[in-house]
Amino acid sequence: MSDCLFCRMVAGDVPATVVHETDRVFAFRDINPQAPTHVLVIPKDHHRNAAALAAADPGLLADIVSAARQVAEQEGLVAGDGIEPGFRIVTNTGPQAGQSVDHVHLHVLGGRDLHWPPG
Ligand code: 5GP
Ligand code: ZN
Repeated sequence: MSDCLFCRMVAGDVPATVVHETDRVFAFRDINPQAPTHVLVIPKDHHRNAAALAAADPGLLADIVSAARQVAEQEGLVAGDGIEPGFRIVTNTGPQAGQSVDHVHLHVLGGRDLHWPPG
């Protein structure tokens, strides 16, 4: 979709600091990081949110979760037994959750203590 920011990043029309890429998945650093690690993981195909992706292509949803795990490992967030020190995956879905870009994305956050519940 030419009017979608994240589709334009996948196409190379908008610059991105890419940390992981496969034929179906794209991961890049958030422009306004909320933690020492703040990476956005997206499918290259356009789906507006996680609910739409789950309905349309659950295998691709699994692919982006798997990519989020790989990113966390690259960033040193799942060393040892796969738990320490830990990280958070967030997917804002819809306006009340604060979704601001309508191309599904997983926020991968870590590198500091993360409080719960979030705001
Ligand atoms: P949302 O608010 O939809 O959950 O998350 C959208 C995220 O995209 C925000 O964290 C925001 O900082 C990030 N973002 C918005 N525009 C850009 C951009 O041009 N480049 C990058 N790397 N991130 C962006
Ligand atoms: Zn898109």
